[in-house]
Amino acid sequence: MDRWVEETLHRGFRVNLKADRVLFDSETEHQRLIIFDNADFGRVMMLDSIVQVTTKDEFIYHEMMSHVPLFAHGRAKRALIVGGGDGGVLREALKHPELEEVTLCEIDRGVIALCRQYFPEISAGAYDHPRARIVIADGTKFVAETDDRFDVIMVDSTDPVGPGAVLFTREFYAGCRRCLKPGGLLVTQNGLPFLQASELEQSIGFFRELFADAFAYLASTPTYFGGPMSYGWATDDKTLREHKRKKIARRHEKAGAFATRYWTPEVHVASFALPPYVQELID
Ligand code: SAM
Repeated sequence: MDRWVEETLHRGFRVNLKADRVLFDSETEHQRLIIFDNADFGRVMMLDSIVQVTTKDEFIYHEMMSHVPLFAHGRAKRALIVGGGDGGVLREALKHPELEEVTLCEIDRGVIALCRQYFPEISAGAYDHPRARIVIADGTKFVAETDDRFDVIMVDSTDPVGPGAVLFTREFYAGCRRCLKPGGLLVTQNGLPFLQASELEQSIGFFRELFADAFAYLASTPTYFGGPMSYGWATDDKTLREHKRKKIARRHEKAGAFATRYWTPEVHVASFALPPYVQELID
């Protein structure tokens, strides 16, 4: 009997994925986790019945969550990833040679252990990289208490359900501001504006109270069903999102012009061109 796994994130819209082979299906310390193989999207991980990552399209989200802020900042030495237990954002961030250290703060050690086992190609050794530091903690507690200071913070969280709900609060964003260096940049996984408009609106509202510049950029990942995903943007340096293609291309050259499959200097600049239905959520 075929098994179909349902994503239950939205009120009136559900997606079913065929599980050709189920590799893991149980509770972790914090969440329900299932890993299975699917003919169209490759290996899939879902947390609390919501797609997190697939081997076929993960490159899009991971490249846009890492290279856009890191090349926009342009001189980051220390970066923090909150969440990101599959290791994809860590993998991409470590491609930036000028980064001295990348800290990954993940609440669920079970996610890291299972992704090491079933998705080795996603982290591609990043967990054991000499410039990587792995911390198992609630991101809200970590940013409120750490003595470290970061140039760039990338919040690769689940949706605002379960342990991820706190990562969409003003308290968490204030904690991120606390551990950002002057001129630092915060980017956040901020949902699908077409189906989760209030999520982006609320985050932008909090960003406005805490930072001089609040904005968002977009990119579509096929298995985040429902249109383009928004990446929240918060910083005191308004120039960071005004860089021209040439400058971003030069920074990519300087970083060794590593290969990418989605991010390019052109895609980078274009991702800030928002359609009116998204712009109005930010205004
Ligand atoms: N890219 C995916 C998305 O957009 O839905 C997210 C992928 S990543 C696997 C999400 C991670 O956030 C999970 O591993 C989850 O355990 C972690 N997470 C959830 N709440 C957290 C918290 N409060 N502190 C730190 N990590 C958290």
